[in-house]
Amino acid sequence: MTDQDTLQRFLFDGTDIRGEISTLANSYQDIIRRQKYPDSVAELFGEFLVAASLLSATLKFPGIITIQATGSGPLNTIMTECTQGNKLRGIVRGDLAAAAVGNVLSDFLGSATLAITIEPEGGERYQGIVPLDADNLSQCLEHYFNQSEQLPTQIKLSANREKASGVLIQQMPSSQSREKIDADWQHTSALLGTLKSEEQLGLGHSEQLYRLFHEDGVRLFEPQNLNFFCSCSKQRTERALISLGHTEVQGIVDEQGAILITCEFCDEQYSFNQSNVDSMFDPDKPVLH
Ligand SMILES: [Zn+2]
Repeated sequence: MTDQDTLQRFLFDGTDIRGEISTLANSYQDIIRRQKYPDSVAELFGEFLVAASLLSATLKFPGIITIQATGSGPLNTIMTECTQGNKLRGIVRGDLAAAAVGNVLSDFLGSATLAITIEPEGGERYQGIVPLDADNLSQCLEHYFNQSEQLPTQIKLSANREKASGVLIQQMPSSQSREKIDADWQHTSALLGTLKSEEQLGLGHSEQLYRLFHEDGVRLFEPQNLNFFCSCSKQRTERALISLGHTEVQGIVDEQGAILITCEFCDEQYSFNQSNVDSMFDPDKPVLH
């Protein structure tokens, strides 16, 4: 099977529609093996992960895109993020066993919202929020794009225990006539609508696109690799502790002897003893940025 852990752009000759297609395999396994996910939860998480990879490709600058669903169901959080350099990570919080019987989004998350956060490297964060009120994530993300960017966007996501795959098409700003733009969009989105889940999970990228668009001059670009990568570090964990304040941090050390912090994304453990805490809050210590 080709096209694992890669993201590819595609374009069509003669229209102003762009596309992205992505398949996660090892990167997905690296992320889901950290917890015992029931199949239904793993598959939903897989859709969120592949969606983050597709959305990261819509960034026009280096940065990170985060998709976070927060709800009142058995699951209270699903969060996935992907850098423009294609580094993926994610977490699911909640009662995984109770969520096992879920089918549509509200079964997993109850009444929920979906926040899309874009963090340009060194720039201002931007966040858009939509209600998570459709049956699946694709529809909620389409709603987000229609609302925030006013660009017609269509997304198909699929996941099983082994893989997660997705396709996104989006209308680009165009100088063509309204009639031509609408006709091209209708034609292309109707074809994408015929893509089946088993094709997404069973075929390579070029085979999927050939099946859908072989008469439409589709051009597939070079693949970019996707990997699981966690951006946590001892230094970032220390910064989070400093923001809690000296009294609070010293209180934990007094009570427990040391502070042990486990990264939720990768299980890396960071421990801080008394002398670490002393130097963390040393007024003479050079400040690291
Ligand atoms: Zn980590």
